[in-house]
Amino acid sequence: MADALLAVQGLSASAGEKAILYGIDLEVNKGEIHVLMGPNGAGKSTLGHVLMGNPAFTVTGGNIVLDGTDITEDDVDKRSRAGLFISFQAPVEVPGVPLNSFLRAIVAQHEELDLKGKKYKKRVADIMEQLDMDASYLDRELNVGFSGGEKKKIEMLQLLLLQPKLAILDETDSGLDVDALNVVSKAMAAYREECDGTILIITHNTRILEHLPVDRTHVMVKGKLVAEGDASLISRIDAEGFEQFGHVEEDEKEDASAKDMRSVTIPEFNVEDVLADAEAALAEADAKRAAEAGGTDEANGTSDADGTSEAGQ
Ligand code: ADP
Ligand code: MG
Repeated sequence: MADALLAVQGLSASAGEKAILYGIDLEVNKGEIHVLMGPNGAGKSTLGHVLMGNPAFTVTGGNIVLDGTDITEDDVDKRSRAGLFISFQAPVEVPGVPLNSFLRAIVAQHEELDLKGKKYKKRVADIMEQLDMDASYLDRELNVGFSGGEKKKIEMLQLLLLQPKLAILDETDSGLDVDALNVVSKAMAAYREECDGTILIITHNTRILEHLPVDRTHVMVKGKLVAEGDASLISRIDAEGFEQFGHVEEDEKEDASAKDMRSVTIPEFNVEDVLADAEAALAEADAKRAAEAGGTDEANGTSDADGTSEAGQ
């Protein structure tokens, strides 16, 4: 379909010498929910990384078009601004950076959101209430010591803050507790309601799909998409497994280097860089607000609840 939100054609990719993805064709239309399933080691997470532009992988063929624009050569930041969002299996921990500063930095990089000062503060507070998150999260260092469920909540907060055109959610294999599952379900419903969000969900957990109206299901085995169907394919996989799509050999003993590589931060999305870039923009915006408001507490930067003070340091 020419007007697909995401159109992937013949996409092949490798990590170093190792070929992982072979000729992936995938189309997702606006507002749809797609599910990607497959055994361990099939290449599902790799597809997510390659779509987002993780430089640990090399595109060896094909292309990726988002909303009519070919983004195959774009870096992570550019893809993010173009409306792509991915929640990883293992979110990064960033000691020393409070969540609030991180969120403000991200928002500052997305001018189109027009979320400055009080607007930002209100929006974050609203989302946190929506997701049942305690306001104290904002002062904690990004993901440090957070449980899997807490990290997921923060990702969902980012999702609702950024309102991307397409959200790719790579679920943890180990699964989420009931509380986190609820948050993810709530956030996805809100994302769809508020901005007709489009979701590609990579999951083993069919429970999370019970409350979602799934439009298409894709099955990946050994780096290839081998089957596609509607939501009924999920229950078929539940009942019969992946063997029905050919010989499946779970990639249990993946080499240590692969594991290491997948846990690295995406170099282009270095948080320190993001913060440094955002600092100037924030300082400018704060100064402008101070000039406009003229002499109130907020304008003097003595109110720290919105992160004004640390962001400028
Ligand atoms: P899935 O998410 O479907 O379980 P992955 O995409 O994580 O599968 O992995 C697919 C294959 O690619 C596995 O064999 C894995 O070891 C390998 N792989 C993934 N990332 C890397 C990497 N950075 N370097 C080398 N091999 C990798
Ligand atoms: Mg995976």
